[in-house]
Amino acid sequence: MGFDPVLEAKKIEKEIISWRRDFHMYPELKYKEERTSKIVEEHLREWGYRIKRVGTGIIADIGEGEKTIALRADMDALPIQEENDVPYKSRVPGKMHACGHDAHTAMLLGAGKIIPEHIDEFNGRVRLVFQPAEEGGNGALKMIEGGALEGVDAIFGFHVWMNLPSGVIGIRDGPFLAGAGIFSGKLIGKGGHGASPHETKDPVPALAELILAYQTIVSRNINPLETGVVSVTSVHAGTAFNVIPETAEFKGTFRFFKPEIGELIKKRMDEIAKGTAIAHNLEYELKIDELTPPTINDSKMAGFARKVAEKYGLKYCEVPPTMGAEDFSFYLQMVPGAFLALGIRNEEKGIIYPHHHPKFDVDEDVLYLGTAMEVALALEFLK
Ligand SMILES: [Zn+2]
Ligand SMILES: [Zn+2]
Repeated sequence: MGFDPVLEAKKIEKEIISWRRDFHMYPELKYKEERTSKIVEEHLREWGYRIKRVGTGIIADIGEGEKTIALRADMDALPIQEENDVPYKSRVPGKMHACGHDAHTAMLLGAGKIIPEHIDEFNGRVRLVFQPAEEGGNGALKMIEGGALEGVDAIFGFHVWMNLPSGVIGIRDGPFLAGAGIFSGKLIGKGGHGASPHETKDPVPALAELILAYQTIVSRNINPLETGVVSVTSVHAGTAFNVIPETAEFKGTFRFFKPEIGELIKKRMDEIAKGTAIAHNLEYELKIDELTPPTINDSKMAGFARKVAEKYGLKYCEVPPTMGAEDFSFYLQMVPGAFLALGIRNEEKGIIYPHHHPKFDVDEDVLYLGTAMEVALALEFLK
């Protein structure tokens, strides 16, 4: 017998697109994916899956056997006002699927429909993981706590990718997305009259020095052959022309691929804040939170994905790494797998705006290829 995942996915292409448009019209923010997960669950039940709820997340199993492959999609949207003028524009003010998670959910739902129709050809168990809160909520951790990886031998996930031409699958060995953390701190002095600085301890010039000194972490402390980012993205001090404030506050994010680089950045941020405070006779506070580890694909699994793409005639290429972050990294810390990209950039259709932009959109005509690849990965892995 044997069936062709690409043909099967093409057959339900319209359905995949209509799911994506429905999710797009009714976006839900992290951990609020009630409507989305309800729709997903209803379909999966109808198709015969064994369902476990983890809050607004869903773990759905089908098939039996020694091996288990997990396929993951994220479902959350962003607090962004959509600026696209399309029939499926977000109906919810201030909320938008600007990262493509609507497409991820629809693609995996497509795979979820095809797999049970051919379940005899899958020599094992397929687990679909629909997770909440990828956007800064670490929903992946909640799913892992809820048992998403129990008995799982490999995991794959897709992200639609604006920096790849439409329809091309991006596959990368090793580090793909960065580890990410955030920091917030303040320099604390003594306020007073703007005309009498000598009677104050002014945190403002000290903060200016701190910001510049933070830029030397990447340029002077990290080995030039390694990568890292330190961005101070928010600064606040004072409210009046003639008042020296007591405190000056700052916030930002840092990125890295290697844990030791992350540690170095954290150590230097603290030393610089401390040293700046001492130099200016100030106190300081600094809070650093490491949010997401780097997303590191297993080379064997990436190689397997390339073989699968080749076998089914799906176009693929190597995708460059980015300093963006993904909580798929948590799954990859525990089981081998690979995070794949699906190119959705289409200049002719004006689909060029980056992820998280109010005009972000996806080339819907290639979504079935994501579905096809997901089905093919499961089919081949369970052979
Ligand atoms: Zn995003
Ligand atoms: Zn995303």
